[in-house]
Amino acid sequence: MVMNRSEVDPWFTWDLTRLYKTDEDWEADFSLVRKMAEGLSKRAGTLANGKEAVLETLSEYMQMKQRFEKLYVYAMMRQNEDTSVAKYQAMNDRSNSFASEVMTSASFLLPELLSLPDGTLEGYEQDPDFADYSVFLHSALREKAHTLSLEGERLLAMAGDAMMTGDQASEMLRTLDLNLGTTRDENGKQVPLTDAGFVLFLESGDRTVRRLAFSNMMQRYAAMGNTFAALYAGQVKADMFMSRARMYESCRAASLYGDEVPESVYDSLIEAVHGGIGTLNAYLQLRQTKIGVKHLHMYDLYYGNEQGFEIQPDIEEAFEIFLKAVTPLGLDYVEAASHALPDRWIDVYENKGKRSGAYSCGSAYGTTPYVLLNHKKNYDGLSTLCHEMGHAMHSYYSNASQPYPKADYSIFVAEVASTTNEILLNEYLRKVYKDDKAAQISLIGSMLEHFRTTVFRQTLFAEFEMKAHQLAEAGESLTQELLSKTYYDIVKAYYGKAVVVDKCVESEWMRIPHFYSPFYVYKYATSFCAATALAANILSGDKDRIAAYRRFLTLGGSMPPIDELRIAGVDLSTPEPVCQALDYFAELVLEYQALLA
Ligand SMILES: [Zn+2]
Repeated sequence: MVMNRSEVDPWFTWDLTRLYKTDEDWEADFSLVRKMAEGLSKRAGTLANGKEAVLETLSEYMQMKQRFEKLYVYAMMRQNEDTSVAKYQAMNDRSNSFASEVMTSASFLLPELLSLPDGTLEGYEQDPDFADYSVFLHSALREKAHTLSLEGERLLAMAGDAMMTGDQASEMLRTLDLNLGTTRDENGKQVPLTDAGFVLFLESGDRTVRRLAFSNMMQRYAAMGNTFAALYAGQVKADMFMSRARMYESCRAASLYGDEVPESVYDSLIEAVHGGIGTLNAYLQLRQTKIGVKHLHMYDLYYGNEQGFEIQPDIEEAFEIFLKAVTPLGLDYVEAASHALPDRWIDVYENKGKRSGAYSCGSAYGTTPYVLLNHKKNYDGLSTLCHEMGHAMHSYYSNASQPYPKADYSIFVAEVASTTNEILLNEYLRKVYKDDKAAQISLIGSMLEHFRTTVFRQTLFAEFEMKAHQLAEAGESLTQELLSKTYYDIVKAYYGKAVVVDKCVESEWMRIPHFYSPFYVYKYATSFCAATALAANILSGDKDRIAAYRRFLTLGGSMPPIDELRIAGVDLSTPEPVCQALDYFAELVLEYQALLA
């Protein structure tokens, strides 16, 4: 029974009146931002007039951006409450198209700054009067080395749209045009195979159902394999064109440049994860024994996740557990976080028309963070609460400690605070239920799967896209045969000691939408490893280590992400944190083995 939005107790909804008391106030801000944008565009051509002109322009730009973000997230969150409400749908559409208007008004900013005489921007970056804008100027300066002449930039901008074809067409194919056909259900009936249903088939206790769902899915993709290969090759060619046009050494160098992540981070991730493959296979052998099959296949991997740990917290209970789990972070953290539920930062329960899933939104600078949940009374619901509150508190501290232009943290560090909280929760519950064997098996089992699907699976993906780009950069043509063989060989290297890797697995790469955001997925693996190391630091009780982590939460986007993590206590430029995470994984595997014995 899913409620209508109007029937939900307001206590369990977020209070967006902190952003705007009424929708009329939102309209007033919309007009104001439009005026600000007009004012800003009039400043085009003035940046060569000297320091004051640049300072005023940057200040106006940031004020406009901040105000725009506030109205943007308000419309988005209202729309997410109930997507059937036409009024909020319209407001959301308007703020989406308003975004390009706002960006256009500032489009002179970067080219004009970069055309100032050499040394000028460097001087501003060091000038205390520009303290709030130093990060902005720093990244502008870094881009300078890879920015072309005005004419060159104009051509690249014109080519940009065409470069998206591989991404757009593969999405159309995956989500609309590809017919996934049918598969066999538990009753022996042929039923339609869908992406959403696929996971459920893989969790089935009926092995034939799992096997057929997997092989049917892979066959359907393989049948379109030439098309998928051409689309992905198109993406890689676009990456090559852009990275070469902008004078990067490789596609990977171009992708990592924005985050200031050295390529050695990527290499040491892969190297360190290879060192953990033996442990992964030891874990998979335990799974094989546990589900009682002679040979484990890839289609068996999602079956047999633990049940038996009965925890059914409603949101108040879940919130209490969350606060206890994060107590090692310090009582002031707990105090600050304890306001989230009573002060209505959180939109708790599902209602008709509400956006699915969960997220935290910390971009309304100057107000509290907000969290959208669709809370379920089980471990996953509890874990999701802890995860999203990790994001929310990261935003809370960063927004409170940094000026607006430096508050927003990068994607590279974004999943660290959330995952750290998930690990703290898991460790806390393991202490509470220390004499409950079923609970231990369940809690450790869920953490092991989290490890497998985040650290191992995402690194496997990262390795595949790296090889694909390297092959193309060396002049090879990315055919279905070459891509599928490359993918298969990597899967075999990761899983082959414990799992029978059926040939059909070779087509799995075609299903992964993330490959159209090149060199992105490795961040999931590095974040998870960093979080594991940091959670261990926190649980050690060492005051300095906890203080270091707490300082990290306040840094926002004020430094390159690798430097922020170094302050937190992990140095990702070495394989150390990944190795430390894999040691933790190995410990969990041993405990799991002892519990299953
Ligand atoms: Zn997250």
